Amino acid sequence: MTIKEPQNLTPVVTCPYCMHHECIPLYSNVYDRLKISTKSWSFLSCKFCKAAILSPHPSRQDLNRYYPNDYLFTTKKNSTTINKLTSWLAYFFFYRFLRSDVTKNLSPNCGTGHEKKKILDIGCGMGNLLRKAVKNGFDAYGIDFSKANIVQVNTIPGVKAYHADIHQATNLFPAGSFDIVTAFHVLEHVVEPVTLLKQCNILLKENGELAIEVPAIDSLQAKILRHKWITLREAPRHLTVPSKHALEIACHAAGFRKIVIAPGRLFDSAGFIALSLLPYSAEHFQNSGINWPKFARLLSAVIILASLPWVWFESYICKRPATIILHAYK
Ligand SMILES: [Zn+2]
Repeated sequence: MTIKEPQNLTPVVTCPYCMHHECIPLYSNVYDRLKISTKSWSFLSCKFCKAAILSPHPSRQDLNRYYPNDYLFTTKKNSTTINKLTSWLAYFFFYRFLRSDVTKNLSPNCGTGHEKKKILDIGCGMGNLLRKAVKNGFDAYGIDFSKANIVQVNTIPGVKAYHADIHQATNLFPAGSFDIVTAFHVLEHVVEPVTLLKQCNILLKENGELAIEVPAIDSLQAKILRHKWITLREAPRHLTVPSKHALEIACHAAGFRKIVIAPGRLFDSAGFIALSLLPYSAEHFQNSGINWPKFARLLSAVIILASLPWVWFESYICKRPATIILHAYK
């Protein structure tokens, strides 16, 4: 799947995290890992907060066309047996754990007889987080830009999900509706991350908690893999890749008072290494029917397992993890 590239691209003159004007070239030869876009993309680096910024970038309207139908984990019903098997292995050992343990860490004592805590997952995807949230005693809500995802998520007992642009959350719910708002791997997809963080702040009750996960440009992986790092090769769907410092500045600007940053899951970070080395092992290519080596996905699984000691080292010894989870309190 390739598309007709839009001609109108917007150059970035102000860092969308810290609002400083001095941005210098970072990489100019970045190619879309999914090959939906065939042109090369460029990232700038903010001299102040070090965030990586895609510039020029497509408009918010044009961005939608760069997302394939199978952007999140999915399998085709008419897939071959080997593809079904590798998809099942990928789901069982990897995708089903994404986000699933988050609500337990967020609020282990909720649902013990008092009024249920309300959680909103922005960009809820397949609903892994919300399914677990219901089990942990939350009143669970989700929004996602994919209609197909929302149909599936609404089949999860106890979950209320809405098909909406993530910027429409403040139109769907009154201010101060939620105890917890989560947005995992969402911030890097939006043109104005501070605006989204402000909307999350509005939706939270006093002392409410925001939890987000993003890739980090100041990670060791990013430094070593450079323009081949899969998170940058997510251009133009990734409009920015923040640093820890950029996130802290943006959260304070959005009105959050306390910020705690921790490394993301090691499996996620190891997955970045595997996809950087073997971009064709992505689910998207298997579903596309293109005849990529069948062993690519299994080799990718081997790389993920072999990378775990390294990602532990970069996350906990070097303290430069590839993904970071941020908790911000209103
Ligand atoms: Zn900046």
